[in-house]
Amino acid sequence: MTEDIRWEKTHCARMDQGGCALLVGVKDNKIVQIKGDPDGYLNKGYTCFKGRVSADRLTHPDRLKHPLKRAGKRGEGKWHQVSWEEALDETADNLKKIRDKYGARAVGFGVGMPKGLEHFVQIRLANIFGSPNLIASQDVCHAPREVTGIHTCGFYPVADLHNPTELIVLWASNPASTNEEGQIASQFYAQLKKGAKLIVVDPRRIDFVDQADCWLQLRPGTAQALALGFIHVIIEESLYDKEFVEKYTYGFEDLASHVKEYSPEKVSEITWIPADLIRKAARMYAAAKPAALQWGNPIEHDVGVFDATRSLVCLMAICGNLEVPGGNVNAHDPKIMGLGPFVRADLIPDKRKEMISAHYGIIPRLMTVAPAYFRKAVLEGVPYPVRGYYGMCTNPLVAWADSKTTYEALLSLDFLAMAEIFMTPTAAMADIVFPVAHQYEMNDIGHYGIGHGMIVARPKIVEPPEACWPDMKIINELGKRVSPPELWHDDFEAFLEDVVKPAGLTYREFVEKGYLKGPDRFKSYVEKGFRTPTGKVELKLSTAEKFRLKPLPEFSGFPEEDDPGFPLLLISAKSQYYLLSSYRWVPKLREKRPNPKVEIHPETAATYGISDGDPVVIETKYGEVTQAAHVTDIVHTKVVSASLGWWFPEADPESQYGWQKSNFNMLTSIGKLGKEFGTPNLKNLPCRIRKA
Ligand code: SF4
Repeated sequence: MTEDIRWEKTHCARMDQGGCALLVGVKDNKIVQIKGDPDGYLNKGYTCFKGRVSADRLTHPDRLKHPLKRAGKRGEGKWHQVSWEEALDETADNLKKIRDKYGARAVGFGVGMPKGLEHFVQIRLANIFGSPNLIASQDVCHAPREVTGIHTCGFYPVADLHNPTELIVLWASNPASTNEEGQIASQFYAQLKKGAKLIVVDPRRIDFVDQADCWLQLRPGTAQALALGFIHVIIEESLYDKEFVEKYTYGFEDLASHVKEYSPEKVSEITWIPADLIRKAARMYAAAKPAALQWGNPIEHDVGVFDATRSLVCLMAICGNLEVPGGNVNAHDPKIMGLGPFVRADLIPDKRKEMISAHYGIIPRLMTVAPAYFRKAVLEGVPYPVRGYYGMCTNPLVAWADSKTTYEALLSLDFLAMAEIFMTPTAAMADIVFPVAHQYEMNDIGHYGIGHGMIVARPKIVEPPEACWPDMKIINELGKRVSPPELWHDDFEAFLEDVVKPAGLTYREFVEKGYLKGPDRFKSYVEKGFRTPTGKVELKLSTAEKFRLKPLPEFSGFPEEDDPGFPLLLISAKSQYYLLSSYRWVPKLREKRPNPKVEIHPETAATYGISDGDPVVIETKYGEVTQAAHVTDIVHTKVVSASLGWWFPEADPESQYGWQKSNFNMLTSIGKLGKEFGTPNLKNLPCRIRKA
């Protein structure tokens, strides 16, 4: 009976990076329905299919419900159940043993995408334990945009879709498929409805192309060349914002002479986009006042990421789109606890010098270790040995580039513990596996510490299975075992209180409000300047020499050399039904996307004798996998787009759930890395295909 249903408010989590406000219907401690909350600040009632079935993540019969200790060889799939006491003691003893023998930095602490407060409690654990090594895929996700923004204009410029804008550029972003923090497809749809023009920059013909005024189907891996081509046109035709450039930028003359070589004709040769279309799109962007550039994560998927993100911030700046409503803005946090005190950064003052990646001269402000460098430390002892790893919300064996190297690294560790909701290929290699409570089963705060100027409440809706603990509780209890207990809370929920206390709220009061948003402040540079060494937007980096960075963004070649033996270019796209390597075990999602598919243009498919649905071997210099052909003209004839994050929960535990068969990262390598962030080439890989 519908009248028996209790409706609770919360926000979606761990399905993408968005934060739709939800109404969750509960009956007998079971979630029976999820719908969008019309009062939601970000989504105004919108949800996607994935969000509406998100409670199904909790109910699979094979969900982990007991702490497990490895019984057979690593990865053999043999376990026995142990108590929480035993699992925590065993983990603490092993981490301390490694610390005693090699030093605290020999333990890496791992996180996946930041989904809630546990991400920051894990950083706190690493800091208090004494390890500077927080391992995260930030080199390919978020940090390049954020850190490059900070170096160039003093902040991370996010697209402001809350205020009216004249033009949106979706640059490698597909909001119908996956959302950024603080941004939901509904905001984007509303802007289009109000008449905003649209430019899509994407190698795939995403659905929004049908509504776009301009689609630039660029050759993958050439974003920086295209952005520099835009800047060339805008400066050559004198379309830039002269007052802003004169008063608030540094190095304009150098940039202007530098981009002379990026004529639309030359850029066209690099990017495959007709020169006239480059001119048209650049003029549209310059003419729109304001224009919001919604830049997506794929920009960060090859070794040229620093130049790509730098050139895009320069583009925003010279057109006067920084810090204006409807442009790209600095999202200010509400009055909440700062990240530094929360993670106890004070306890590890030399972190920047001590972390593994410091050895490689990475860009300042990147405070996590790129997975490629972590594995070099594990396998080669460079710059020092790393022997232990504790990971949560992460599945490195499938999610990190170069799965074969990841396998070797995980196999060689002295100790590996994982916290998971479901047995994954990575958890299957662990010595200890902790079963976690998931969203709806714990009180949590979302969007903390990720630069979008708001936090959202995610209160507990139902009780978790008896032996499943929230990650925050696991870390809190582990922390007490490996460090002075007074640095931890009696009850982990005190972390939630800590965050909202500066706002004068208890966690309960915060839940009543639903979210906290920072103040909108536009054009604060007029009074305060930009938070860069010169006080201006640094089109040319004043710190380039000091930090061994390029002063001006450039296109210095394709991510990998063209190779006649591998005549196609491989990219990947995220599915709207999964989150990276998660949730293949959720039946309603699996029904929507039962198998990994590789998109192949009809002409290309015909050349190779491939029909729709055929199993296809995709091969790069680094490995091969099999996926099913999806013959479609949404991709270029020279590009194939494979599915990401695949493993098979239904496969044998002995095979570690078929982690090699269709896993995109069997095709990638960490042999070549971008210097600034340690980013590997996740896309833009020369490949060949054949019918299996
Ligand atoms: S759009 Fe993202 S945040 Fe919203 S319901 Fe879907 S997965 Fe959840």
